[in-house]
Amino acid sequence: MKKLLAIIRLRCPRCATGHIFASLFRMNRQCPVCGLEFEREQGYFVGAMYFGYALSLAAVLPVIVAMLLLGFSAASIYIVSCLVLLACAPFLFRYSRVLWIYLDQVIDPR
Ligand SMILES: [Zn+2]
Repeated sequence: MKKLLAIIRLRCPRCATGHIFASLFRMNRQCPVCGLEFEREQGYFVGAMYFGYALSLAAVLPVIVAMLLLGFSAASIYIVSCLVLLACAPFLFRYSRVLWIYLDQVIDPR
């Protein structure tokens, strides 16, 4: 439960206190509380794309299904889906990276 709360609050996986993000799109290099290095190596966050894809799908799929059931055209579904993804971009960016960091800490804790 503590880990889930830390993920939701975008906190460090080791201490659950330090902020992973310094601003909306800028990450801290390391945890300001315990010093955990968030980006272990160059290209570390490429794996976060898997979470980004899954979260994007979770965000846009209900919209697509609802619009299909309501009989909207493919073009309007496409435009609305793009707008939803654009609006969710900060959320998707941040949570995909945080989930990647947490998964990496489970597999290879440091
Ligand atoms: Zn920490």
